[in-house]
Amino acid sequence: MAEHESLEFGKADFVLLDNVSMEDFMANLKLRFEKGRIYTYIGEVVVSVNPYRAMNIYGRDTIEQYKGRELYERPPHLFAIADAAYKAMKRRNKDTCIVISGESGAGKTEASKYIMQYIAAITNPNQRAEVERVKNMLLKSNCVLEAFGNAKTNRNDNSSRFGKYMDINFDFKGDPIGGHINNYLLEKSRVIFQQEGERSFHSFYQLLRGAPDSLLRSLHIQKEPTSYNYIRVGGNIKSSINDGADFKAVSDAMKVIGFTGDEVQTVYKILATILHLGNLTFGVDGDVTLIENTKLMSVIRELLSTKEENVEKALLYRTVSTGRDVIEKQHTEQEASYGRDALAKAMYERLFCWIVGRINDIIEVKNYDARIHGKNTVIGVLDIYGFEIFQNNSFEQFCINYCNEKLQQLFIQLVLRQEQEEYQREGIPWKHIDYFNNQIIVDLVEQQHKGIISVLDEACMNVGKVTDEVFLQGLNSKLAKHAHYTSRKLSPTDKSLEFDRDFRIRHYAGDVVAFIRAYVYISCVPCANPVLKGMWPEGKLSITEVTKRPLTAATLFRNSMISLVENLACKEPYYVRCIKPNDVKSPLLFEQERCRHQVEYLGLLENVRVRRAGFAYRQTYPRFLQRYKMISEFTWPNHDLPSDKDAVKRLLQGCGFDHDVAYGKTKVFIRTPRTLFSLEEQRTEM
Ligand code: ATP
Ligand code: MG
Repeated sequence: MAEHESLEFGKADFVLLDNVSMEDFMANLKLRFEKGRIYTYIGEVVVSVNPYRAMNIYGRDTIEQYKGRELYERPPHLFAIADAAYKAMKRRNKDTCIVISGESGAGKTEASKYIMQYIAAITNPNQRAEVERVKNMLLKSNCVLEAFGNAKTNRNDNSSRFGKYMDINFDFKGDPIGGHINNYLLEKSRVIFQQEGERSFHSFYQLLRGAPDSLLRSLHIQKEPTSYNYIRVGGNIKSSINDGADFKAVSDAMKVIGFTGDEVQTVYKILATILHLGNLTFGVDGDVTLIENTKLMSVIRELLSTKEENVEKALLYRTVSTGRDVIEKQHTEQEASYGRDALAKAMYERLFCWIVGRINDIIEVKNYDARIHGKNTVIGVLDIYGFEIFQNNSFEQFCINYCNEKLQQLFIQLVLRQEQEEYQREGIPWKHIDYFNNQIIVDLVEQQHKGIISVLDEACMNVGKVTDEVFLQGLNSKLAKHAHYTSRKLSPTDKSLEFDRDFRIRHYAGDVVAFIRAYVYISCVPCANPVLKGMWPEGKLSITEVTKRPLTAATLFRNSMISLVENLACKEPYYVRCIKPNDVKSPLLFEQERCRHQVEYLGLLENVRVRRAGFAYRQTYPRFLQRYKMISEFTWPNHDLPSDKDAVKRLLQGCGFDHDVAYGKTKVFIRTPRTLFSLEEQRTEM
């Protein structure tokens, strides 16, 4: 509870609601939003509603107010969570993490930036130069990542199209000494296609609108986005984004971070290559597939510093393994177009991963010897996409929703575990509470041999057959009895399953009908540019590499999720749950139904219940007395009992609340919020 906040602004902690019902939860959320209180707690979880206006709550003076304070002493704020994570790390030597979730446009990335700014502001009081350098790098890296990984979508002008987990490492003094970024599942389909009203990644428009003419000439690039098929749709979109200025900011940031001139040039060459690739067209002559634009081919060859045959081969042929043999098979015209697009997407993805890798090289902790300096501790910040349930859901939504199931699973485990550990530490008896365990859905996706990903992998290995059909058959035979899976074949009368290819997963957050194309594509262009070579370390695919069967995208994603969750699970977690109040970016509008839906699938009510099933409120004895001693004659102005614990007992017995509390070793635990309210009321009446 934010103790000093008046109830005029609603309850600062949902745990204090009289009734844990959806109506009451929503009423409180709405009231607070309307009063400009965008943050509310559920215990130690921050619920945030995007204000869609500049709030005067992130400045230096606010930072000072939160620095070193306890969570409940100030109004709910991201800074309080950041401070709690920082304190846990510094005082108790714990690795901590801050998990930020919510749907697109809910404010995750902004929240992660405020958290980083807060940490940067409260550390390095002695202005050590090396620490300042690291802080600068960590903050600057955002700008580069956003240029290449963010795009304007219909839901958010600066939407992160990748998941990001960033570790910040601290030395024994609690100052940042480095970091590491993991990126997850870039939405690479955006490279070749965007919905009406959306754009491709910012980087393309920045290049076209911001690069000097000489650079554009050397890349054979024209200024108009509409000249390029891949970004034509988004080329005319008016927005508040200033691509020209951003180009300058990003290239400066790359320089400051330490990208070499050659590296930056190669980045531009790849962007240009991708744009040119999109303009390639294919034709047929007899039974031979041809590339029609020979001039463009030589531009691409030049930009990639490779032989023309290499590009041509990558575009017109594929390597197929049939049992033991590996053969080269010519594409049809349509296959060649798919292949071209696949190559463009793969190049962009490689570029993005390479940029992340370069940033990591630069920000990684150097010269730190734990034997001399003590343990190097970590705060991780996870900014990752929330559940996505669209009309048409494909592979990307499948992965994103699976990711959210994993995180929900972790959330339940950790929140319960944390509670349980605290009760144990304090010597308080604890009764297990029931909650929906979504492990069954996680298994549906990731289980070896019978999970959806395994079935997909098998289908992808089935060269020469119609893989989509093999995939669906596999799903239907292996998962027919699964409570969270169905398909059109299994439920022919179900209206939501419109097409034969559709299947449905009953997610924790709701039903999602998806279809996934099962295909593998391996294209690779051997080239001479050393930076480019670094991006494609496997070089030209050899026979052994093909027979080794490269991991499919789904398996790679599963592996990355499993290791992400393992990594988070060993840290002390803090959560920020972001809510988007409306679809029109309005600071005034609180769309009830929309918000309710988010509250539902973020599991917030469940969260309140879990929190309340234990004790709604806990406080150390001295602090409790400090706040409430005036309401009891036994404690005011001072007590003469042997310990603060005894004094608190006496105080609460005197008020008749003894039945509702438990006395731990260092803290008093109060079960229901009502008790706390009464205490607060008595306090204000004094
Ligand atoms: P995505 O999943 O698409 O990346 P996101 O959750 O990261 O979405 P943000 O990019 O953080 O969303 O926020 C979207 C927009 O909302 C911001 O560009 C900004 O205009 C506004 N916004 C978010 N948080 C705040 C805030 N705390 N104060 C003011 N405006 C905000
Ligand atoms: Mg974002």
